[in-house]
Amino acid sequence: MKPTIPQNLNCPEFLTIWEIWRTHRAEIRHPLTPTCETIQLKKLARWSVNVAVETVETSICNGWQGLWPEKVNGSKRKKTKLYPIKIYGETKNCSQCGVPAVYKSSGGAYDYYYCADCMPEKVKAQFE
Ligand SMILES: [Zn+2]
Repeated sequence: MKPTIPQNLNCPEFLTIWEIWRTHRAEIRHPLTPTCETIQLKKLARWSVNVAVETVETSICNGWQGLWPEKVNGSKRKKTKLYPIKIYGETKNCSQCGVPAVYKSSGGAYDYYYCADCMPEKVKAQFE
């Protein structure tokens, strides 16, 4: 007897990973019981498909028996990659130290350019 897949997770992406999850649980000798499956599906249904899929993937890769969507979601703060800033083909340099800049701050009338070391701490936190 297969528990019903929640409507918001009923898509190929999730169904595929869920089958892999069942296989994984069998492999680690903790097969999913229908009751456990129902509870896990109910838990995942509160999250988006992306979080749900990543939650299952994370548990499989770490050899976990349980699912922790809140962990996956918490670590998912999007970080933006930094690239040197070029304007009209010209690399901009950090206004503090002169090395190629990766961040532009446009406050007021002037644009300020910063390298990864000189950019404000607040801004640094948003990047990796
Ligand atoms: Zn700098």
